[in-house]
Amino acid sequence: MRGGHVFDNEEEAERHKTITKAVHDHGGKIAMQILHTGRYAYTKTLVAPSAIKAPINPMTPRELTEEDIQQTFKDFAQCCAMAQFANYDGVEIMGSEGYLINQFIAPHTNHRTDKWGGSFENRIAFGLQVVRSVRERVGPNFIIIFRLSMLDLVDNGSTWDEVVALAKELEKAGVTIINTGIGWHEARVPTIYTAVPRGAFTQVTRRLMGQVKIPVITSNRINDPQLAEDVLARGDADMVSMARPFLADAHFVNKAAAGRADAINTCIGCNQACLDHVFSMQMASCLVNPFACHELDVEVTPTKAPKKVAVVGAGMAGLAAAETLAVRGHEVTVFEANDKIGGQFNYAKAIPGKEDFNDTLRYFTTRMKDLKVPVHLNRRVTSADLANFDHVAVASGVTPRLPPIPGIDHAKVLNYPEAIMHPEKVGKKVALIGAGGIGFDVAELLTHTHSDDEVGAYRKQWGIDVNYTDKRGGLVEPQMPETPREVWLLQRKATKLGDGLAKTTGWARKLLLQKRGVHMHGGVEYVKIDDAGLHIRINNEDRLLPVDTVVVCAGQDSCRDVVAGLEAAGKPYTLIGGADVAAEIDAKRAIWQATEFAVDF
Ligand code: NAP
Ligand code: SF4
Repeated sequence: MRGGHVFDNEEEAERHKTITKAVHDHGGKIAMQILHTGRYAYTKTLVAPSAIKAPINPMTPRELTEEDIQQTFKDFAQCCAMAQFANYDGVEIMGSEGYLINQFIAPHTNHRTDKWGGSFENRIAFGLQVVRSVRERVGPNFIIIFRLSMLDLVDNGSTWDEVVALAKELEKAGVTIINTGIGWHEARVPTIYTAVPRGAFTQVTRRLMGQVKIPVITSNRINDPQLAEDVLARGDADMVSMARPFLADAHFVNKAAAGRADAINTCIGCNQACLDHVFSMQMASCLVNPFACHELDVEVTPTKAPKKVAVVGAGMAGLAAAETLAVRGHEVTVFEANDKIGGQFNYAKAIPGKEDFNDTLRYFTTRMKDLKVPVHLNRRVTSADLANFDHVAVASGVTPRLPPIPGIDHAKVLNYPEAIMHPEKVGKKVALIGAGGIGFDVAELLTHTHSDDEVGAYRKQWGIDVNYTDKRGGLVEPQMPETPREVWLLQRKATKLGDGLAKTTGWARKLLLQKRGVHMHGGVEYVKIDDAGLHIRINNEDRLLPVDTVVVCAGQDSCRDVVAGLEAAGKPYTLIGGADVAAEIDAKRAIWQATEFAVDF
């Protein structure tokens, strides 16, 4: 993996003692995750069981020799011994997600004809020998968690019988706990982002319960303590694992234990600041918690000069600023023109699969209450209303842009907030002007078919078969429900639609709309809108899209109504979020910019 750490010597391990000590001082236990990426590695010297290129890596691996394989066992053992030296309580060996061990297990990637390939027994021998080598080196009391791929979601992956048989062999080889791995990185099935229903894969873990005597952990899209309790109570697993929720809120466990789940800043599964950052060589952090991984370089200090600060607008920027200003001891009051907080998040949370965004609003509601920040709803303030404040944080957000296309005032034209909040107003044939994040969101909403069985519907449309009835890897032919509308998604740029979407989620969003038959066109010139529909020109060819609704998703302009009055009154103010820059404003930038302002204020 690019930038991946090598952990093989005492000098490196010594530095980790700071982490293990901190965890132990607080009564916790900590295991280090260990993985060999095999053919996913971003290095020219990548290796794999067979020289088969991964679809997500431009480089072809070299086939491991017998000597390499023997050395790899030693390397795993050395790495785990160093984890033990650093006072970790255990390790988690990644045998899933399509990494090296998984590449040996699955016929998909293992075409070897020696003793490490061919039969099932040969294919699992590599992973088992890794475990035995580690166990021999670390002794009987060190925890070895093995992350077992229980659902590969690639052609020619494992069968369920093989998963169970391997689990039993792993137990014999000395594994302490088995964790659930779902989906290889190259799988064309989303398994962790927002649109994956919460707890969608606990049923897979449940099938392994009782097959081994060691504890079994479940994972994927468990971001809420009550859900975790329910999973355990149902007997789906002995333990629950989470990762991203602790970036979103490092105090998740303490808050849950204290009965303050309402105060948890919930991970919304967006990947925008964690995985998207990692895959673009940036420091991992969190969209809803800008402090994540910046704990040592950002200090929130109590203010020495408390001020009365008005925050105008209770969208993400306003709420984030109000929170940190109040934490620092400023006297903060929030004014919101609407009857609810949330700003643009209120549209996002109405998109099917983005229901988790409600939790961010719940978090901020709790936070404002706990910090005793008054939030005045239905208050469109003028500068005169703000005379008594020392400073104004202008977070009044954005207004949807209405491009000057002839016929833009036609009755069939809606802006995106109207279409999202009132989909019943949208006809059966719809053109969307603008294919940014919101154009994609609206296309998803308008082509979505409601199902009472959210998990079942998700599995059907992505072709996931947790019962392995059809083929290896847990895949089945996807079944798309009939879409309620025919949708055209349009942009002026000649580039491919969705190119600007986030790295780790954009592909799934594009694929979903393709599966739903959404027509996507770039290089579009908008000619006019009339009773007949939307007239466009592509490659100098005139076309009429016979639509009964046109939804405008053409970006936004900053909303700064209050600023002129503040200027005239000489009142100090700071623009934050969309009120500052509307172009491509998103929640991450809004929250982060507002927090930075509040930290430095
Ligand atoms: P955006 O990403 O800036 O997209 C605006 C779209 O409108 C583009 O397709 C643009 O393409 C088109 N456009 C711009 N000016 C136009 C004009 N004058 N006439 C016609 N078309 C015009 O904005 P957005 O979609 O409103 O999203 C706002 C922000 O929220 C973005 O940062 C976005 O990433 C974020 N967001 C993220 C997600 C997510 O899931 N991560 C979801 C929703 C929103 P052309 O200029 O090529 O026509
Ligand atoms: Fe969760 Fe998004 Fe934060 Fe990642 S960036 S931890 S997915 S909320």
